[in-house]
Order: sequence, then C-alpha cells, then structure tokens
Amino acid sequence: MSLKQPNNYLKPRYMSPEQVRGMMMKLSEKHGIKLHYLNGNEGDGDNANRSFCAGCIGSGDIYLGVYEDIELEVISFFHELVHVIFDFDRSVISTMQYELYVTFKALEYAEKECKVLFSDDAIKWMLEQCLTYHRWDEREVRGYKF
Ligand SMILES: [Zn+2]
Repeated sequence: MSLKQPNNYLKPRYMSPEQVRGMMMKLSEKHGIKLHYLNGNEGDGDNANRSFCAGCIGSGDIYLGVYEDIELEVISFFHELVHVIFDFDRSVISTMQYELYVTFKALEYAEKECKVLFSDDAIKWMLEQCLTYHRWDEREVRGYKF
C-alpha cells in the first residue's frame, strides 16, 4: 500500500496518549457518545487490544480495552465510532463483510473528516481483527463444523 502521506494530517503513531485521548474525547462529545476505558478485568476479563460499542446514532457508548500500542487504540476507536454513527443495512452481508466494511468506512471517515492517517501496520492489524469473523455466521447459525 504505502501511499505517500501528506504532512498536514494527524498521525496517531506520533501523538502522545494525552493528545490522542483528547481527540477521541472531542469526537465522542460531538457525536453524543460516552467513551469508557476498560481495565483488564471487566467483562470476560480479556480486554487486551479489544474494544466494544453499544447504542445508536446520536447516543451510544464506546468501551476501549487496554492497548499496548496507542495507534491500535485510536484505529479501534474509529472503528467503533463508525459502528455507532452510521446506519448500516446488515441483512445482506456476513459479519466479516460487515466488519470489513465498517473498517474501510472508519479509515475514510478518519482521513476525510478528521484528517487522521494510520500506518500500514495499524490498518493491517485492524483488517486482521475483522478476518477473525471469517465464517462466523456459519459457525453461529448453521452449526459449522471445522
Ligand atoms: Zn466492529
């Protein structure tokens, strides 16, 4: 991929945790979203490099797990943000296709609306997260056998 990146964009890889969290807080407020930071032990106890969201357009919650890499935290935030602020018709696509679509939309939203660019490594990581949903629907719905 390696598109030439313009200089007047924010690159979370080179931002401090304070800058990044300030940006995510502003964006959350803009969209009426409450941003929560999970510790390692809530939910099923595995919040390492994972995030969640709930809610709908205009009001919602984003739960960010514990990330070892701040850029992965930000790209996950944009992914969850797009889940909440855009209304998708999910009836015709699988969970994996939906997650990939949300990721591409999140990258576009980050770049066009927020002037935020991610590194190839972060994009690759995010896409890999989506691919873990491969055949998810078959497994869940049709009793898929490995
Ligand atoms: Zn998702």
